[in-house]
Amino acid sequence: MAAIPARVEAAVEALVRTARAMPVEQVWGRTVDEIGSVFDGAGEGKAHMGACPHCREAFRAYVRGFGVTLSEFGARDWEQIRSTYGYDAKTYAQVRREEAEARDARRRALTEEVERRVESLLQETAWPTGVADLEEKPAHRGAPDDEVTDPGDPDDEVIDRGDAAAAPAATPRRQPAGDGLPFDRHGNALLRYYSARFNNDASAGLFEPLAKAIAAENEAKRRALARGDTESPRARQAWIYSFALRGNTFLLGGHSLDFFNWYRRADNAMVYETSNRDPRVWQWDGYLCDVGRAHTLRLGKQFGIYIKPHRGAPLQRLLAAVSRGATMIFWYTYGPAWRKGDSFSEDRYMLLEIHKAARLLGEAEHVLYGAEWAVPAIVRYGLTGFGVREWKIELAVKSPPAWAFQTDANGVVKKDKTLSDPMCVLQLLKKHTSRLTV
Ligand SMILES: [Zn+2]
Repeated sequence: MAAIPARVEAAVEALVRTARAMPVEQVWGRTVDEIGSVFDGAGEGKAHMGACPHCREAFRAYVRGFGVTLSEFGARDWEQIRSTYGYDAKTYAQVRREEAEARDARRRALTEEVERRVESLLQETAWPTGVADLEEKPAHRGAPDDEVTDPGDPDDEVIDRGDAAAAPAATPRRQPAGDGLPFDRHGNALLRYYSARFNNDASAGLFEPLAKAIAAENEAKRRALARGDTESPRARQAWIYSFALRGNTFLLGGHSLDFFNWYRRADNAMVYETSNRDPRVWQWDGYLCDVGRAHTLRLGKQFGIYIKPHRGAPLQRLLAAVSRGATMIFWYTYGPAWRKGDSFSEDRYMLLEIHKAARLLGEAEHVLYGAEWAVPAIVRYGLTGFGVREWKIELAVKSPPAWAFQTDANGVVKKDKTLSDPMCVLQLLKKHTSRLTV
């Protein structure tokens, strides 16, 4: 147990160190893909919460922390207050131990039965002359006649060949929450409520040190900028956001980590992925994007989305997200097609949809985000090959192009209004076209 905080601390330190060194405006760090309950990593699954003596104790302390009393559950003592996930479950180790004991018992019973039957056969067989001596010194332990099994009598069947009735039932790995709870309807409902929150908070708590460290980094940058500082490493380092990638259902029935309390302890960005393929449930994207919008407004979180075009409706999903304030869009995933199952580079229809979506977003950025050009748009003619038809017009926009302008010591793009510099575009074009026969 003590190793966990140390491992978390080392991971947090590494992430912050890496993020500080990155020459970009924002870093969005994904901590866990398809995040789920931390207890799913235990041998018992989520039933670990009810089975493990340490987690039972931690659960009681957690419930007490809310000032809840035993009478609110209708409970007699705190021993009854356990997580509804595996309320009566045995630990994985105990189940395995009991299985091993049952196996040994069955093996012993089988051995004894075989010995009895062999003995019985020896008794019943009319042996040839000379074997009688052997009968006087039997190799096997004899059984009294009245214990000899009659194979035709079902009452005599003492051998268990794996019949579950004779062995202790193994506890299912995922015990349905709430089976065999001891209280009335209201008490059980209260216990289920705290069990769901405990599952969430225990998982989210693992990410709390990271959330705090990042908040401190961003606050230090914010203070530097507020002082008018734009040059120090603090001022120039990236804004850092972290997120555990969520599936696109926010119902506790389908996912045990909720979409609200999770963000009180973990992550300063909420990001989910559009994995659903069924058009009947795509409408939930609008709902979940509104959850993201609420976190932005009320908890100061960032909101982003992985859009998987090949799962459908990329344009609609983009609009659902950006109209609710998403600032990070990740088109997941380009390709090549053979790299994994859900790329979209090979799908011309999808490329067209994404092209349209990106154009719409580009046109609307100043409305949605108050965006302005970082630098005025510059039209540059570049040479990409050796034929006239391969000339390409490239527009330098906010993202850096594949080639780079020459810049001065302050990073400002050099301009040559006389167009005489041999590396200026006009001179390069002249040099190139002089070789061509048109
Ligand atoms: Zn435990």
